[in-house]
Parts: sequence; C-alpha cells; structure tokens
Amino acid sequence: MKSKNLRAFVILSWLLLITASFLWSYTSARNEQKNIAFQTARSFFEHIVITRLWNARHGGVYVPITEKILPNPYLDVPMRDIPVNDNLTLTMINPAFMTRQISEIAKEFYGVQFHITSLKPIRPLNKPTAREKQFLRKFEQGVKEKGVFIQKGGKTYYFYMAPLITKKVCLRCHAKQGYKEGDVRGGISITIPFVMNIPLLPLLIGHTLIAFIGILGIVIAEKKITQAYETIQKQAAIDVLTGIPNRRSFFEILLKEVKRSRRNHDPISIIMCDIDNFKIYNDTYGHLKGDMCLQKVAQAIKACLKRSTDLCARYGGEEFIILLPNTTLNGAINIAEMIRSNIEKMKIPNKNSLPTGIITLSLGVSSTEGCTEFDPETIIKNADTALYKAKEQGRNQVQSFRKNT
Ligand code: GH3
Ligand code: MG
Ligand code: MG
Repeated sequence: MKSKNLRAFVILSWLLLITASFLWSYTSARNEQKNIAFQTARSFFEHIVITRLWNARHGGVYVPITEKILPNPYLDVPMRDIPVNDNLTLTMINPAFMTRQISEIAKEFYGVQFHITSLKPIRPLNKPTAREKQFLRKFEQGVKEKGVFIQKGGKTYYFYMAPLITKKVCLRCHAKQGYKEGDVRGGISITIPFVMNIPLLPLLIGHTLIAFIGILGIVIAEKKITQAYETIQKQAAIDVLTGIPNRRSFFEILLKEVKRSRRNHDPISIIMCDIDNFKIYNDTYGHLKGDMCLQKVAQAIKACLKRSTDLCARYGGEEFIILLPNTTLNGAINIAEMIRSNIEKMKIPNKNSLPTGIITLSLGVSSTEGCTEFDPETIIKNADTALYKAKEQGRNQVQSFRKNT
C-alpha cells in the first residue's frame, strides 16, 4: 500500500473508531435516561398499587362528604354512605376512587398523571385511550409492563403502563364483572414529564477533540517514521568507513544509468581503482592508519568528479569504482589520469612500497562507447580486466579496456 493510501486508511479507521465511540456513548446516555424514566414510573406505579391494596384490605375507607368529595355513583355496595349526625355523613372511598383522587394531587404537585383504565370500565371516564388499549391487549398476552417516550404539546413525557392483576380482596367488588383471581382487570398508566438530559455538546466537543488530536498524532508519527525510514535507507547505502556510497547502492544506480543510456544512446564509462601495495601499508603503519588512508583516498577521488551524475563508491577493501554517465572512453581515461596524478601528488608515505615509497593507484577504464549491446556485469568485468593490466604493467598507471587487449 502506498504511503498516502496507508495514511488515509489509518485516518479513516481512526475516524470510524471515534464515530463508533460517540454513538456508543450517546446510546448509553440515552439508555440511562430511559432507565431513569422507566424506574421512576414503575416506582409511582408500585406506590399506587400498595396504596390501593391497603384500601382494599380495609374493604374501602370512609371519609366525610364535602363539596369536593361526593359519593361515588359507580360504587355499588351496601353502606356506601353512613350518616353520623346532621353535619356529618361519611362515604366510602374504594381503591379506584382513591386512585383518581391521588392522581389529581400528583398532577397538581408533580405534573404526573395516573389513569386507571380497563377494557371493561365500570366508570365511562375510565375507558382507555388508543395507546392504553394497545398496551392493555399486550398485558392480556402476558406482557408485564411497558414504557415509551411520547410527545405532547411540544413536550416530552414518559408514558408507562402496567396491569392491575385481580387479587382475592378485589373480588369483593369485581367478581360480578366475571373476573377471577390472577386476571388482568385493567391497568394504570403513568405519564411523567421528562426532559432527556443527554450531554450531547460535551460528547461532541470531546470526541471532535480526540479525533483531531489523533489525526495530528497520526500525521506526526507518519512524518517521524518516514524520516527514520529515509535515514535507515541512506545509512544502508553508505559505506561506514569512507562515507561514500557502498557497492550495493552503486549497483542500483548503475542499473538505472544503463537503462537510461540504452534509451538515450549515451556512452557510460567505468573506472576501477585499487590502491597499490596496500597490504604493505597496513603492515607498515597499522590497520588504523590504513583506515585513515582509505578515507583520504576516497575523498581525493570524489574531489576529482565534477558532474553531479558522476559517482564514486567503495567497491570493497581498498578498491573503488567510479560511474561516469554520458562519458566517452577518452573522457574517462582523462579523469582516471587526473585521479592517479592527484593521489600521487598527495605523497602519502608508504615507505616499503617500492619503487615509489608513496601511496599510488592503479586504474582500469572501460566504456560502452560504440557498443550497441552491453550489460552492467560486462562493463565492470572489462574495467577489472584493464585494472589487472595496470597492475601487471607495474602499477601507478591507467589502462583502458579495448576489445582484443
Ligand atoms: P596490489 O597492489 O596488488 O593491490 O596489492 P595490495 O596489497 O593492495 O592488495 P592485496 O589484495 O594483497 O591486499 C589488500 C589489502 O587491503 C589487504 C587488507 O588488509 C587491506 N584492506 C582491505 N580493506 C581494508 C580496510 O577496510 N581497512 C584497512 N586498514 N585495510 C584494508
Ligand atoms: Mg585489491
Ligand atoms: Mg591493492
């Protein structure tokens, strides 16, 4: 995968991860709010059921008749009203009537609405709404409770409903409707005003910030990795001792230049250099001095190359190789001679190397000039043959490869 594509892939994956995290956080917050609404509504329901049970266990409770509390016309029981004296008559409050009255208080103080309802209501006002009817049918099928968010007049409410299961004490009044113990007799719906409290803005800002920091991190990391990779590549191409390109990178460049030369029909020339009697130098002055001498020679050769496309590399040991693109054989011979002469002029002592007593170079030159077919191996082999000839003929000289030589 290309570096740019890889970066885009990593950034996209990161953004997907952040989006998933945002959606998960949002859904969790929403579910938590739902749960709060559900538990609150259920708690109201349980309270009202307990209160109703208390009332039913007493077989209804009596309260004084006032302007606000009038006898329940739907309550068909003996002794519904008990006159105490001229000023006081008591009337029975059964669980249904009590629920309605509590509902009024809840609505007044908390905005919470209870509605006791049934598919077979005794009191017409207790008949179910469309939603209540739907829920009551579900309860008859075995659903235990149900809650949903609803919108009413531009406000959000939580609507909860659970069934009223007929208990033994309820049969006193409800047996005549045909209910048995355990039957779903109806239900109570609870409507609570509810404002969803989801921290959407902090969630959004937090995730955007994390996404941005992540992208910044990815871009910086990519830059650092690319730089480190380039450094490693450069180091892998450089000879540690002399600081000039090594044999491997020389071959890479040679292959490119050979291709270019074939296309453009330019000649390529190569010079192979070998320090004369370098073993003697090491034996005389030590390996450390030998290393320093190699560095000096490498820099001296490099200094003789003027074109930016010319390249000097360490071929191995005390051998150097020079690539001269777009250079004729004569041009290369001239450069080789200049290198030889410059090294000689440096007069680096090598007292046991006879007859000169100084560091000298032998050089072999080859060129593709005039060749229609050539390959990198042959050019190098020819330069090596010429170098061998230079050594054979007394060292400290330049020889070139010509066919039949
Ligand atoms: P000739 O003129 O025939 O080339 O003789 P020579 O002594 O230069 O060649 P030979 O192949 O006999 O010896 C090469 C020497 O170069 C031997 C080795 O110790 C030395 N040499 C090779 N690489 C290094 C290096 O990295 N550092 C040092 N100090 N010496 C090296
Ligand atoms: Mg050698
Ligand atoms: Mg040598």
